[in-house]
Amino acid sequence: MLNPEITRRISDAVDTAFDRQLNFTAELVRHPSLRAEEASAQDLMFAELESRGLIMDRWQLDEETLSAHVGYGPTTVAFEDLTNVVGTYTPPASHGRSLILNGHIDVVPTGPEDTWSRSPWDAEIKDGWMYGRGSGDMKAGLAANLFAFDALRAAGLAPAASIHLQSVVEEECTGNGSLAALQRGYTADAVVIPEPEENMLVRANVGVIWFKVRVSGQPTHVREMATGFNAIDAAYTVMGDLRELQDTWNADQGSHRYFEDLDHPINFNIGMISGGDWPSSVPSWCEFDVRAALYPGVTAADAWAQIEDCLQTSSSGAEVSAVRSGFFSEGYVLEEGSDAEGVLASSHQQVFGSALESFTTPGYLDGRVFTLYGGIPTLVYGPVSEAIHGFDERVHIESVRKVTRTIALFIADWCGVTETT
Ligand code: ZN
Repeated sequence: MLNPEITRRISDAVDTAFDRQLNFTAELVRHPSLRAEEASAQDLMFAELESRGLIMDRWQLDEETLSAHVGYGPTTVAFEDLTNVVGTYTPPASHGRSLILNGHIDVVPTGPEDTWSRSPWDAEIKDGWMYGRGSGDMKAGLAANLFAFDALRAAGLAPAASIHLQSVVEEECTGNGSLAALQRGYTADAVVIPEPEENMLVRANVGVIWFKVRVSGQPTHVREMATGFNAIDAAYTVMGDLRELQDTWNADQGSHRYFEDLDHPINFNIGMISGGDWPSSVPSWCEFDVRAALYPGVTAADAWAQIEDCLQTSSSGAEVSAVRSGFFSEGYVLEEGSDAEGVLASSHQQVFGSALESFTTPGYLDGRVFTLYGGIPTLVYGPVSEAIHGFDERVHIESVRKVTRTIALFIADWCGVTETT
């Protein structure tokens, strides 16, 4: 536990730099870092980290290396466009516990922009919220990592262990960015990921599989419709079969630790669809993309085998095939009682004046990479947000300030500090 004087100095340093932190967050939001279009935002992250005197590393994700890993998700975009950025701080004297401060730079598409009440990329601040695609998920968190780190130095303190500040790609689609960082050799005694988590700690989350289903039909002129086979109609039946599998998995929630009381933990989402060639031709094909979830402890291979079986025995009567098209990830549980959690709980308590709460989230998190494959306690903990992946995404400013303070205190307590002044 930090002494009160150091706590005060660090908290004051966060407050002093907070306007700059918000400006930087807004600048990040103004870079539309959609999948495979993260380069300019990564340039900005690189420049900011480099200006802090960190040892810089930027590299392109490598398909061969990644695809050899069990946690790899097939990537459907060009690898040339995917680069990770890491800045490493090395202490003058190392006697503390090392740390990875991780965040993803990629954001999901906006949907029709005219349905937003403002441009998704203007990062306007209004009534205590910053708006914009990626504001909550998770550019506020990326900036919080950076400015929490800054706060120690501004307070006249040097962390006493290595810190890797990571800005990764592919979190919203495969998880290959963090996986590549782990494969590159970045490891530590703990990881912090400030995803938008309502000022709480993630205790458990689901794994995710992405796949594309193709349903085949028999084309014909509509005048003799009965002689054809409508692939789009059949696709609806296939979707119904998948919903039944989803219901079966949800019915089993009672046997999965931390998922017993969740409302509908397993969600299958039909996220994209296309099919047919002509309004007056019975369609010969329909394709749709699905995101499925699985409980921690279920292997992605097992879940995938059940999904494939469901598709092959579909009641549609159609020829159905499926390919994996992204995430092939397992869920994880953050085991209770780790030192890292204890330090975060203490930091949170000092800032918020209340106990740290944990919860289960039915969405994908890169925490699985570090937890499952790195054996590192991973604290996914971050600010209050609304409408992530929706219209008018926003992040709560005061929450960002407090989360930044908490992370700064966590760094000091976890890594240890030495006085520089
Ligand atoms: Zn996220």
